[in-house]
Amino acid sequence: MVKNKTSLTFYGGVNEIGGNKILLQDGDARVFLDFGLSFGKRSIFYDEFLSPRSACGLGDFIEMGLLPNVDGIYREDLLAMCGMKKQKPKIDAVFLTHAHADHANYISFLHEEIPIYLGETAFLMLNAAAESGTRSMEYEIIDFKRRPVESKKEEPVKRTFKPFRTGAKIKIGTLEIEPVHVDHSVPGAYGFIVHTSRGAVVYTGDLRMHGTKPKMTREFIERAKASEPAALIVEGTRIDVSHEPSSEDKVKKECNNAVAKTDKFVVADFNFKDVDRLRTFFEIARSNSRKLVVSLKDAFMLKWLSRDPKLNVPSYSDEDIIIHIPKRGTGTYRENDYSVNERQFLNLNNSWTAEKIRKNQKRVISVLSFYNFNELIDIKPEDGSLFIHSLSEPFNEEMRVDFKRLRNWLQHFKLRMFQSHCSGHACGEELIDLARQIKPKTIFPVHTEHPRLFCRKLRSIRLVKEAVEYEL
Ligand SMILES: [Zn+2]
Ligand SMILES: [Zn+2]
Repeated sequence: MVKNKTSLTFYGGVNEIGGNKILLQDGDARVFLDFGLSFGKRSIFYDEFLSPRSACGLGDFIEMGLLPNVDGIYREDLLAMCGMKKQKPKIDAVFLTHAHADHANYISFLHEEIPIYLGETAFLMLNAAAESGTRSMEYEIIDFKRRPVESKKEEPVKRTFKPFRTGAKIKIGTLEIEPVHVDHSVPGAYGFIVHTSRGAVVYTGDLRMHGTKPKMTREFIERAKASEPAALIVEGTRIDVSHEPSSEDKVKKECNNAVAKTDKFVVADFNFKDVDRLRTFFEIARSNSRKLVVSLKDAFMLKWLSRDPKLNVPSYSDEDIIIHIPKRGTGTYRENDYSVNERQFLNLNNSWTAEKIRKNQKRVISVLSFYNFNELIDIKPEDGSLFIHSLSEPFNEEMRVDFKRLRNWLQHFKLRMFQSHCSGHACGEELIDLARQIKPKTIFPVHTEHPRLFCRKLRSIRLVKEAVEYEL
C-alpha cells in the first residue's frame, strides 16, 4: 500500500528575512503557512518609484520572482490578465502567524475562496490597514475589486477570514492545526503545531523572549515539545546575534528618562503596529503630563485595536490621545481634501492641526515617522527639541542613505536625537535553546540570511532550497 506523502515546500523566507510562504501537504490536504511579501526580493528590482505593473495581473510578479508559479492558488481575474489559465483553488487554507506584511500581505493575490485562518487581533490589524490605506494590488488583503475594474460602483469581492485564539484546534482533512500564542513585536502573533500523518510539524512564525509577554513564547515551546515533532520550522532573523542586549522594559526606562529631562517638544518615531512600543510611549506621555499625538493613519489602528479589551490600547477618543490632521489638497482643512474614511476623525475635540500642536508643543509627544516630516515645517519645533528614534539602526546601504536624510532634517530643525529600541526577534542563544528544548527530528531554518549558523550548535539541520519539496 502506498502511504500518504507528507511534505514541506518553501516558496519564500529562504535565505532571506521574511516573505515566508510554506506549503504543507499531507495526502490530499494542502495548506500554506503564511503568504508574505518578500521585501528583499522586491528590492532587487523595484523601489518606491518603480513597482510591478498592476495592468499585467500576476505577470510581473511571477516573472520577477516575487510570486511562485504554483497552480490553483491565484485570483482568476489576475490570471486572466496575464493570459494564464483560470483555475479553481487547489489548496484548502492559509494559516497566518501574524499581521506583518512579510507574512501576510501577498494573500492579496490568492483566490478568494481559499479561507484565511489568523488570530483575532491580527484580523483587527488587517482591517485597520485596509480602512486607512492605499489601494494597490499588493494591499488587497481584506477584499478587492475584480480587475480590470470597469466601474467605481462594482462591489468588492470579500475573502473568507476565520479568526482563532489560542486553544483552537482546526481540522483540515488529515491535518489538525493548533495555534499557540507567542510574543513578537506585533500583537496577535502565533506559532503553529500541525499534526500530520507523519507526526507534528512545529512552525515558530516570528517570536522573542525579551518583550512584555515572554510567558506566551514559553508556553508555545512547552506545547511544541510535548508534541514530539517530526519537524521544526524555526525563524532565524537574529541567529547571528549571540546575546540579547535589550528589552522592552529597558526601552521604556531609557525613553522615559529622556522625556523627563526635557521641557521642549518631543517627537517619537516607532512602528505603530508594535503595540508594546505604543503602550510604552502612551505611558511615558501620561507620566510626564503630556498627550500622545498620533497620525490619521494611526487613528484607524487605535479604532480597531481598542476593540480588543485584552490589548489595553487606548481608544482614538481617549483624553490623552490627540489626532494630528495633516494639510491635504487645498491646504485649508476642507472636508473634501480627505478620503471618505478619514473624515470620521476630522471634527473631533481631540483632532488638532499642526498650528495647534505648535502652540502646545511642550505638552505633547508627537508620533511622527520620517515620511511625515513635512509636518515639522508647520509645527516649528523649538531649538533643542528631542527626537526619539525607537526603531532599529540602519543595517544596510539603503537604510544608511535614508538615515542620512533623516539626520539632515534633524539638523535643519535643531532637534537632538536619542536612540532606543529592542528587536521583535529572539537572539541566537535563545533560538538554539528553543530548538534544543523542542527536540524535533529535523530542523528547517527560515526567515534568516544565515541558516548555516544553526549547524554550528545543532544537529539534524536541513538547509532549505526554494521550491524544493522535502518529504517528512
Ligand atoms: Zn517576519
Ligand atoms: Zn514579524
